[in-house]
Amino acid sequence: MKTYRKSSELFARAKELIPGGVNSPVRACRSVGTTPLFIEKAAGSILTDADGNHYIDYVGSWGPMILGHSHPAVIRAIEDTLKRGTSFGAPVDLEVTLAEMIVHAVPSVEKVRMVNSGTEAAMSAVRLARGVTGRDVIIKFDGCYHGHADTFLVAAGSGVATLNIAGSPGVPDAVIAHTLSLPYNDAERFARVMEKSGETIAAVIVEPVAGNMGLVPPVPGFLETLREKTLKYGSLLIFDEVMTGFRVAYGGAQELFHIGPDLSCFGKIVGGGLPVGAYGGRKEFMSQVAPEGPVYQAGTLSGNPIAMAAGIATLTEIRKPGFYDRLEQISALLAHGLEQAAANTNTRLAINRVGSMMGVFLTDRPVKNFDDAKTSNLEKFAAYYRKMLERGIYLAPSQFEATFVSAAHSERDISDTIAAAESVFRELSAE
Ligand SMILES: *Cc1c(COP(=O)(O)O)cnc(C)c1O
Repeated sequence: MKTYRKSSELFARAKELIPGGVNSPVRACRSVGTTPLFIEKAAGSILTDADGNHYIDYVGSWGPMILGHSHPAVIRAIEDTLKRGTSFGAPVDLEVTLAEMIVHAVPSVEKVRMVNSGTEAAMSAVRLARGVTGRDVIIKFDGCYHGHADTFLVAAGSGVATLNIAGSPGVPDAVIAHTLSLPYNDAERFARVMEKSGETIAAVIVEPVAGNMGLVPPVPGFLETLREKTLKYGSLLIFDEVMTGFRVAYGGAQELFHIGPDLSCFGKIVGGGLPVGAYGGRKEFMSQVAPEGPVYQAGTLSGNPIAMAAGIATLTEIRKPGFYDRLEQISALLAHGLEQAAANTNTRLAINRVGSMMGVFLTDRPVKNFDDAKTSNLEKFAAYYRKMLERGIYLAPSQFEATFVSAAHSERDISDTIAAAESVFRELSAE
């Protein structure tokens, strides 16, 4: 049995000082009936908690750690940059380098602005779309998460889904009135709404692969319909690639599905584990951002040199030949192994996977949208989570979050994980 004494003590102190003891809600582990582990350190695929327990990590800081933890090239880049100082509030060469890398990676992005989080990127992209079109209404999709800005807190995924809250107090009705949330993957419903009200829609924002209700890939035709109708009615199509960017392919989901949105949002991997977001797109739109244009957006620490260095080092590693092939291979190994483990134990589950992002749903129906995801047995998921943790496997503490594989995961990690899952499935089916 693992012991969690230090984590428990730290959490008790934290709860007195920080709401729920955490600085982001899902970390509190409420929906799985545990309390959070405090992490002491991490290297490669392995996390070590404050009590010295080790875990194979499939959270990867919720997406950024595609190289695994403490990658030597990233640590070196941070250390080298640190010697120059930490923040100047003035341009540095590293911002230009990272912007060049993003623009080269993602053909639909001709200009890009750095911010400090995915939330900021999505919020700024929508402001820009509203500014450019002179319209107010945006369309999003149920179960997608675009950060915690007011506009997006309608039928949102991630922590909003985990905590089962419809939206949030503190968000004015007047703001929500301008947000329409439609079912993910329902191209017909979307097309009908656009045909009726397309001329009032400033932007359609979507996770091109949804990763905040578990993992839900787009069905064929869905993204194509979004592109077609937004072009027809002059609405901007925003791909929120905060999670998928540099994850499902170097050029993100838009490379995978061959669809060029008007604006794209990035975060997570692009900051290599430091707080970075970015939004970009066609020049004609990005030129409307201040000071080139009238749409205001700013940031004291935006383009921070240390964060830029971590992002550059990460992208430099992952664009090396063969990187995504290896990641695909090891991720497929995990998915197939889990399916086999489920079959061996008569466990019903639905696995969705796009590259190194995976959703493991404890349900017997295919998961194509948020309603399907919500048919999962959440109590059983909680038990699965706790038993996997006890066996040294660190999963996201919610059915509505994705599983991330990193390049640091070894075949041994994967086979240990599958063996753990099979023994957990067996225990659960005996209960
Ligand atoms: C994580 C995420 C965000 C929010 O990013 P933060 O850095 O947490 O603000 C926005 N959109 C998507 C798709 C995300 O996965």
